[in-house]
Amino acid sequence: MDITKEKIIVEPVVIPRDQHCISRANISQAALKVLYRLKDAGFQAHLVGGGVRDLLLGREPKDFDVATDATPEEVKSVFRSCRLIGRRFRLAHVRFGREIIEVATFRAGHRPEHADHQTDTGMLLRDNVYGTIEDDALRRDFTVNALYYNIRDFSVIDYASGMQDLRDGLLRLMGEPETRYREDPVRMLRAARFAAKLGFRIEPRTEAPIPDLAGLLADVPAARLFEEVLKLFMSGHAVASFEKLRQYGLFGELFPDTEQALAGQEQDFPHTLVLKGLENTDRRVAEGKPVTPAFLFAVLLWEPVRLRWLDLQGEGMSPYTALQVAGGDILERQLARVSIPRRFSTPMREIWTLQSRFAHTRGKRPHRLAAHPRFRAAYDFLLLRAEAGEADGALAGWWTDFQAEHAPGPAAEEAPAPRRRRRRGGRRRRKPARAEGE
Ligand code: ATP
Ligand code: MG
Repeated sequence: MDITKEKIIVEPVVIPRDQHCISRANISQAALKVLYRLKDAGFQAHLVGGGVRDLLLGREPKDFDVATDATPEEVKSVFRSCRLIGRRFRLAHVRFGREIIEVATFRAGHRPEHADHQTDTGMLLRDNVYGTIEDDALRRDFTVNALYYNIRDFSVIDYASGMQDLRDGLLRLMGEPETRYREDPVRMLRAARFAAKLGFRIEPRTEAPIPDLAGLLADVPAARLFEEVLKLFMSGHAVASFEKLRQYGLFGELFPDTEQALAGQEQDFPHTLVLKGLENTDRRVAEGKPVTPAFLFAVLLWEPVRLRWLDLQGEGMSPYTALQVAGGDILERQLARVSIPRRFSTPMREIWTLQSRFAHTRGKRPHRLAAHPRFRAAYDFLLLRAEAGEADGALAGWWTDFQAEHAPGPAAEEAPAPRRRRRRGGRRRRKPARAEGE
């Protein structure tokens, strides 16, 4: 393991106010207040990361991160509504009304003298040493994420050709790519995510090691990967993310059973269902409609669930029970890679198990099914399966007509799935749906 790393001397390029397009009018009031107050208290204060990158690209930033030379305790002394969070590395959260601005003290990344901070694959365990702004720039992931907007003179400080890479639409890791991926394998997912979100190319040296190192994601805690999966698939560029992840062999690290099902099938529909589901998610995000991780994971894991469902039915299990068991099996295997909190995995499994109940279109059963709190999501899922050619289109149509006939009002089309009340009451009051005697 080679952990020697020369301290890189950087010559920052300062781009004065009149030579870049960042205007204070596009920075949130809360972020500006934080920047000014830190400055007035005698500290350095910069906007950094995705906020600066997106402003320079003329996009609306998702959030604003501030970097400063003030320690978290010093930040706390400047703001009344400030909370220090994080055990491993302390960050300050400053609140203004509904907005929270994350304020981080300049950090030094890995230094050779801290060899004990790494695992033997080179992964950083700690990354909690304060440093200078230069250190802080060097430990960031991509050059386009290492630009600082200085509130003192409204200039942008560029430590690593980030401005040029922004203009060229290039994602370039700071430093030696393999080392940086080993330090934190999530950077590979971030490369795919930013390539998808920004439509950037991954610079060849940054791109080359990814397929070989993808397996390192196995060492990343499942809870962190859950957060990354949400960012990849719920920010409006799910289809592009999916394609990038598959291109680089990363998707299989996150969803091994799905990857196997997609790779091992000749028919088109598994792929089609995932793509249609992700397209649907992107469309909803673009329209400002809510999307839920439960539906997303239901889509991403359906293909292995369906195959297992068929197997179990082949062994003589009833469709409903087989579907429940298949869902449970696949979920359990999946949780070893990417955690899914119960508040999402429970409705996800309901979306799946309800699929077998759509077959019953006589008597009271359709009414009972339509009253289920997860009916609407399960019906949307059925439509997706039908579109992908995997479920019976006529059956899906029957349910569309059924709802139109029994619609409670004209707005039924757009009505969200009814929410279950009494979240705190401990046990669910309604009885668990029984295996309807199939
Ligand atoms: P967005 O918020 O649009 O998803 P972002 O670039 O702001 O993108 P964040 O996760 O908010 O991403 O991180 C903020 C900044 O922190 C990044 O721009 C980058 O400079 C740095 N950063 C985040 N994660 C890492 C990482 N794993 N390794 C190195 N630097 C990181
Ligand atoms: Mg951000």
